[in-house]
Amino acid sequence: MAEKIVHHQADVLIIGGGAAGAMAAIRAKECGADVLLADKSVFGASGCAALASGAYITYMPGDDLAFHLAGRGVLVNQTQAIKAIYATYDVLKILDGWGVRFVKENGEIWRGKGFSGAAASGGLAAGLVGGGTAMMKVVRKEALRRGVRVLNRTPITDLLTSDGRLPTAGQVIGAIGFSGREEEIHVCQAKSVVMCAGGFNFGYKRPGQNFAGMPLDITSDGVAMQLRAGAVMGNMAVGSKYLQSMEFCCAPGIEHFTTMGTGWVNKDGVDVMRRFGESEAEFTRRLSLGHAVALEMLEGRSVYLDGSQLTPDKVRLLWNVIPIIMQTFENAGYEITRDRIPYIPVNAATYGSSHGGGAVVNEKLETSLPGLFAAGASSDGMNISPNLNLSWCMVLGWWAGEHAAKYAQSASLRDAMPEQVGDLSRKALKYLNGDRLTFNDVHGKAAQALIDLGVITSDEKLTLARNTLLDLLAVYDKVKAKDRHDLVKVVGLRNSLEALTVILQYLLHRQESRGSVINSDHPETDNQNWLTLTKSKLEPDGKIKLWDDPIPRETFYVHYKPKPGMSMHPFFKVVGRQVDAPK
Ligand SMILES: Cc1cc2nc3c(=O)[nH]c(=O)nc-3n(C[C@H](O)[C@H](O)[C@H](O)COP(=O)(O)OP(=O)(O)OC[C@H]3O[C@@H](n4cnc5c(N)ncnc54)[C@H](O)[C@@H]3O)c2cc1C
Repeated sequence: MAEKIVHHQADVLIIGGGAAGAMAAIRAKECGADVLLADKSVFGASGCAALASGAYITYMPGDDLAFHLAGRGVLVNQTQAIKAIYATYDVLKILDGWGVRFVKENGEIWRGKGFSGAAASGGLAAGLVGGGTAMMKVVRKEALRRGVRVLNRTPITDLLTSDGRLPTAGQVIGAIGFSGREEEIHVCQAKSVVMCAGGFNFGYKRPGQNFAGMPLDITSDGVAMQLRAGAVMGNMAVGSKYLQSMEFCCAPGIEHFTTMGTGWVNKDGVDVMRRFGESEAEFTRRLSLGHAVALEMLEGRSVYLDGSQLTPDKVRLLWNVIPIIMQTFENAGYEITRDRIPYIPVNAATYGSSHGGGAVVNEKLETSLPGLFAAGASSDGMNISPNLNLSWCMVLGWWAGEHAAKYAQSASLRDAMPEQVGDLSRKALKYLNGDRLTFNDVHGKAAQALIDLGVITSDEKLTLARNTLLDLLAVYDKVKAKDRHDLVKVVGLRNSLEALTVILQYLLHRQESRGSVINSDHPETDNQNWLTLTKSKLEPDGKIKLWDDPIPRETFYVHYKPKPGMSMHPFFKVVGRQVDAPK
């Protein structure tokens, strides 16, 4: 194989061109840096951002701050969250100025209450005309206009380090990837690197599986790369109890549908939220909705989106902000006001793509590794929320770009060690010469193990799933990629498995049910023992070390404080303590 090595240099390298990456690139450029953005797919059409349903959660002057903070839980850095909440409005004005189209009423930006999509948080969201797809086209144009250089269809596979090691005891000096089309290895040297490759996720979901409908380019790469590099990771014991349309892999559109007045009913036409006391369509909280759906499934009843109450005006608005979802339903023969559309719950452990679990970052978005910054769902999001939505990722990206550019001003380019370039290239390409296992073999087994976790999990199920993933990783070198396109998937799936084994380790470690995570062995939310920030790091011996840091109360609890002690998780309050977890 004659792989060509292509070298690149930049002040700031941005890995990923979604919500965080695009904003980081533009801000770094604005701060005077020469910026290279590498995207696994095509910048502007990639990541969750370009598929986003079009809810831009935003603060606006005069809003009640408490409303925006509501429901984020107690593992939240409220000081940083408040800064980020205010900054969503600054970023909205920037986007509006660039020509991103928001739904307007009488010339003013319109917001829907409960439009938020916030897994556990309140919020008010502006509607993006044409959804994230339209927004990212404008943002991409702005980045290119300012001179951000772009490397498309180049999955970055690993970070390059000053000591040539992973995990490193040195600093991050760039990254390496391969072309998804040409026989090329790309070596990117940079004074600072910003990881924005999205969140953890079980990649390549198929219809009917209990995983979130995610873009194909989101396979936990950013999380896995940072894990391998030895960055301190955090906020990984979260996920989202979440819904997904059963037949399609598009966005679920939950926020828009509920805001516009759809219901969620079981097969008997009964409102699934009746037992969770939050059934008003104006402000259905996604977390409870997920629990309610899980409970219906547990009791053997399918769940449906019921749009029979939608007015023609609301249907028009839905076509305006979530055209992809509406078109998908229509193509399949569904008429939203007439037909009920089946939905299933998503397995919390496998979905972090808008739920910041990643490298721990400080207020400058620096990770524990010098030279490496992280933003969006590849980071812990400074713990501003258990979930990181579009606007928060954009804010974090904006901040990261600024700090990475400043860092680059006093840093110098370092040459990558040839041995590390050689090793990492071979590691990425070896699947072209794999053995007998196929992508489908591994994907099928891993998917089943994760589906078996159930939406209501237990320690035994977590252990079983983790062991299966570890077993698959032990033989992963035997996987054969048919061609370069298949190689991108094989490398992505490996990243998914690596990241998810660590997520499962976190879930086993934190012996409680909190937020989206419901574990029948630990039905209580435990503020006595688990008001801690669980973190991890890959040690040089190849083991993941997990530990718990105390919560810095002076920054975390400035607005509201946790209730002390243990309390039954709301899900178990409704169903009782004893549940047989459904598959
Ligand atoms: C279907 C869907 C709908 C959503 N709708 C909404 C909504 O309406 N409102 C809302 O607030 N939130 C929404 N979200 C969540 C929101 O889109 C995400 O929180 C946000 O986009 C995350 O931003 P990010 O930059 O961290 O990652 P992404 O936007 O996912 O971007 C990640 C980028 O990294 C690139 N990448 C991945 N791996 C590599 C690699 N190895 N090398 C190089 N590049 C790589 C990808 O191509 C992509 O460009 C939605 C999510 C989904 C999945």
